[in-house]
Amino acid sequence: MLDDAGLQPLRDAARLSPDNLPLRQLLANQLLAKGYLAEAEAEFRAALVLAPKDVSITTGLAEAFVRQSAHGAALAALEPFLVTPGYPPPMGVIAARALLAEGDLAAAAYRYHEAVSRDPSVADAALAARLATPPAPHPTPAPAASPYTNPTPPAPPAGPPAQPAAPYGTGGGYPAQADGASAEVERSGTTFADVAGMEAVKEALRVKLLLPVQQPELFAAFGKRAGGGVLLYGPPGGGKTHLARAAAGELGASFVNVGLADILDMYIGSSERNLRATFDLARRNRPCVLFFDEVDALAARRSDMRQAHNRQLVNQFLAELDGVDQNANEGVLVLAATNAPWYIDVAFRRPGRFDQLVFVPPPDASARAAILRILCRDKPLAEMDFDAVARITEHFVGADLKGVVDRAVEAKLHQSISAGRAIPLETPDLLAAAQAARPTSVREWFATARNYVMHANDSGAWDELMPWIKGGKGKW
Ligand code: ADP
Repeated sequence: MLDDAGLQPLRDAARLSPDNLPLRQLLANQLLAKGYLAEAEAEFRAALVLAPKDVSITTGLAEAFVRQSAHGAALAALEPFLVTPGYPPPMGVIAARALLAEGDLAAAAYRYHEAVSRDPSVADAALAARLATPPAPHPTPAPAASPYTNPTPPAPPAGPPAQPAAPYGTGGGYPAQADGASAEVERSGTTFADVAGMEAVKEALRVKLLLPVQQPELFAAFGKRAGGGVLLYGPPGGGKTHLARAAAGELGASFVNVGLADILDMYIGSSERNLRATFDLARRNRPCVLFFDEVDALAARRSDMRQAHNRQLVNQFLAELDGVDQNANEGVLVLAATNAPWYIDVAFRRPGRFDQLVFVPPPDASARAAILRILCRDKPLAEMDFDAVARITEHFVGADLKGVVDRAVEAKLHQSISAGRAIPLETPDLLAAAQAARPTSVREWFATARNYVMHANDSGAWDELMPWIKGGKGKW
């Protein structure tokens, strides 16, 4: 080990042989070890110019950034590696430190445990302890804040993104107007623990989206690659958006929720541009769950369209899903939801696109009770009989139950204001709100579904839906 004085000859030597990579790396590592962080950063950057994709130099640079509290810059430097399954575990631990410092506990914990599960020697007991404790409230940065605390960020060592990555772990959404995308990037605090029931749906999403990232070796062993999207379908209000957001949280990924208004534009050509900008936004924020709500409007059967420019939008959507080059969508998981899956062009169901259809069914009685429990969990409550409320809310979906809880809470709030103290919510409050409610017409949805799919299930695409249509799952 060199003492501080021993650094000087190393500095001189590096100055005389600027292209000697091992020498520069040695100097950079020594500077880092001795806490000369700004100088270490400069040396790692210079070394990266000589060896742009070098893992240990990038790891050193990220470490130098984190120790200078330049967390966004650290994540941007690591990002091109982190999107690849099987990335070097030490990078995962540094990313976890940066994410934690930015207030994104869920993403930090995911990175840390994923890294340690692959290489226990990178474990850091102090970090693990901090990940196990809820963080103090973290200020949300201003929307337009630069992802870098350092004015001259390094060029990413490999591949995309072309522009600086948006900050990880910002705690809230922020607009991304710079490139024309109007959708926002969120960090989802919701996970599958916040989704009641729906075990089969969660399992399907786990296998399709989460396992390839969490257990890349297992997937590789079976010759499978991560990729391809999932199309969630089912009656409106059934929790499709909620599930997609939870999948992002479960994965520690960013979440981009795209509504029709973010894409469709009356001017010819603008919708295609919006779509491209939205995909690019997701690519810059990978790992990212890109969620298209009401996707049937963007992906309708071309044969049903009278306007050529609408067909153009569908073609653009297909091209974006395929990715301009092979790795364009690496780390971007595309989820979409529709109440009308039968309108979707079959071209979207080809491998690598929305190659999995997942039916999101209406909740049964026990799932309704569980949804109510989740919706009420942060409210002042008396002893509750959620099963009693579930019994009188047959044919209610998640959104209807949310309406019931909102109405009951509002009534209680009025009472509490008059009384001058918080009066807890009781079962009769929910029962009264449920009785007054007019739920979404799920039965109508099943009637429509029956018309479309009863005689059109040759490919087996609607297998999950069939038992509901044929009466095997109660009367709808
Ligand atoms: P969809 O996208 O299918 O129209 P949403 O995801 O918008 O439905 O659901 C509406 C609301 O209902 C959600 O914001 C959530 O609060 C609640 N909800 C639906 N399903 C569930 C569930 N399984 N567990 C907990 N909450 C749910």
